[in-house]
Amino acid sequence: MPERIPIEKKVLSENDRLAGELREKLKSRGIVSLNLVSSPGSGKTSLLEKTICALGDEIEMAMVAGDVQTENDANRLIAAGAKMARPIVTGGACHLDASMITRALRELDLDNLKLLFIENVGNLVCPSSYDLGEDMKVVLVSVTEGDDKPQKYPGMFRKSSVMVINKIDLLEHCDFDLDMVKANALWINGRLKIFDISCRTGEGLGSWFDWLRGLTAGK
Ligand code: MG
Ligand code: ZN
Repeated sequence: MPERIPIEKKVLSENDRLAGELREKLKSRGIVSLNLVSSPGSGKTSLLEKTICALGDEIEMAMVAGDVQTENDANRLIAAGAKMARPIVTGGACHLDASMITRALRELDLDNLKLLFIENVGNLVCPSSYDLGEDMKVVLVSVTEGDDKPQKYPGMFRKSSVMVINKIDLLEHCDFDLDMVKANALWINGRLKIFDISCRTGEGLGSWFDWLRGLTAGK
């Protein structure tokens, strides 16, 4: 009798293999890659729009934007001035996987590229299980969605290296305990780097841009 492997485990190990290849490929070219994850509506696309406007001429970057049904996010990024932005329409799947990124990268010019952003599907559950070959996961949380995300989705915060808290301009209008969110997130993952930002007002974005400059310096 051949050994039986649960389907999910098999899918994930194949994904890990492809993600390993991706990581090697990106690393050998000196490309830093960030996988943006969050609930729907936290501001992943907005953060990328602001990043393109601020750093588009300074850092050679590309973006792949995953969405269940539309290409709207990639179109927004192109409208914001992205030189390279590609949609990945998952056709129902609630996460990106490494094979989707592998295919998307074939359409991108990787020469001279310094920074790759992957905008995942808005979902705090299964994207945490799918390695996309990225250097880091960046989890976004927004003030309007409530302050219970770290406790409810600890897996995502454990797997992330960075937490961006967006929409801080709305703090006074929402029951969002900023200190508690940070404390809970850090309790789950003490190494999280944290940014407080507002894509609407621009508050805090300078630190985010400086961090990206540092990540890609000398690459
Ligand atoms: Mg989006
Ligand atoms: Zn999923």
